[in-house]
Amino acid sequence: MALRQIRIMGDEKLEKTCRPVTEMTPRTKELIRDMLDTMYDANGVGLAAPQVGILKRIVVIDVGEGPIVLVNPVILETSGEQTGQEGCLSLPGQAGIVTRPNYVKVKACDENMQEFELEGEELLARAICHECDHLDGIMYVRYVEGELFDTSDEDYDEDETEE
Ligand code: ZN
Repeated sequence: MALRQIRIMGDEKLEKTCRPVTEMTPRTKELIRDMLDTMYDANGVGLAAPQVGILKRIVVIDVGEGPIVLVNPVILETSGEQTGQEGCLSLPGQAGIVTRPNYVKVKACDENMQEFELEGEELLARAICHECDHLDGIMYVRYVEGELFDTSDEDYDEDETEE
């Protein structure tokens, strides 16, 4: 298991557009494994490659239903709306209220470059949108309604998650 350093907002890698993965190499597979390790170690539900300083279109997600690897993800469809709290491993200790689609359908390749489609609702839909935004250099703070708040406040609900 290898942990990678998570870049914090302000790091230029978080503001860049990532390149598609054209072939799966041992090195890229290792990156994916490290991203999963790093996400679990940080108790996150999602992590995008630029968050560990690699400008490739790769995200990993686990909303409690097992690991999902999305290589070159493309959102095909969204519907509905959900408004709720969102955080990011690149902005630790803070969260904000963001409105996202309640349903997302995404096309991606897996770690063997096999194409598949995935549908997600609620937290999974939120995580897919949040992570795909990272691949285009977008942080969730752009969409926050009102102010960011400090998640170390005593009335903060610890069940909430960071991506
Ligand atoms: Zn994030």
